[in-house]
Amino acid sequence: MKTSLSIMNTKLLHMEDCYLKEFDAKIINRGDNYVVLDQTAFYPLGGGQPSDQGTLNGIKVTEVRKENGEVRHFLEKPVEGEEVHGVLDWERRYAFMRMHTAQHLLSGIVIGMKGSETAGNQIGRDYSRIDFRPFRPDEKEVELIAGKFNEWVDKQVPVKIYFSTRKKVMEEVDEKRRVLFSRLPEFIKEIRVVEIEGIDRVPCGGAHVANTKEIGHINIIRTENKGSDTTRMVFGLE
Ligand SMILES: [Zn+2]
Repeated sequence: MKTSLSIMNTKLLHMEDCYLKEFDAKIINRGDNYVVLDQTAFYPLGGGQPSDQGTLNGIKVTEVRKENGEVRHFLEKPVEGEEVHGVLDWERRYAFMRMHTAQHLLSGIVIGMKGSETAGNQIGRDYSRIDFRPFRPDEKEVELIAGKFNEWVDKQVPVKIYFSTRKKVMEEVDEKRRVLFSRLPEFIKEIRVVEIEGIDRVPCGGAHVANTKEIGHINIIRTENKGSDTTRMVFGLE
């Protein structure tokens, strides 16, 4: 889980502005098929959220990954020069933003109702999944959860992203979620908090929408048993 603003020498612009679609940057390192930039709006693969795609000076960025302590932008062909203009594939990124906030909302509802933790998640463009533990819902409960989800969407609740100190967060957050923050490595003192007002507050380095109304209603496609006490929920958005 990334919660710091920069990785090595690359400033991650999405940390402060998830809606940034274009940016200018300097190339600070390069390999055969990648470049490293002084700043980027591209989200690097991680935390269950896929990498962004887009272009640098019109050349296709196929993937952005953290490797050897760098944020590497992998390119279809080499880019000339020392300065680049980056453009995100916004349709793709926005789909992931809606899904990532949906994941937080669903996780927040389930932990609130049942005390079940999110043991894992994978965000996709068309559907996403979350593994909850311990959790074994019946059909009625799944319906109830979907209904609650849609209520929070209809309520148009702001999603706030801010940095806070470990100490402050630990004091403010409820007991169920305190464990999430306590699991962050000790060296991280400044924590990026993603808060859906009134329902969920967790540490996260991902890209999110600014209001629950942008998520849209949920369609829970299926639930699967994963081991004795874990249930996987697979969902899409309308
Ligand atoms: Zn997250």
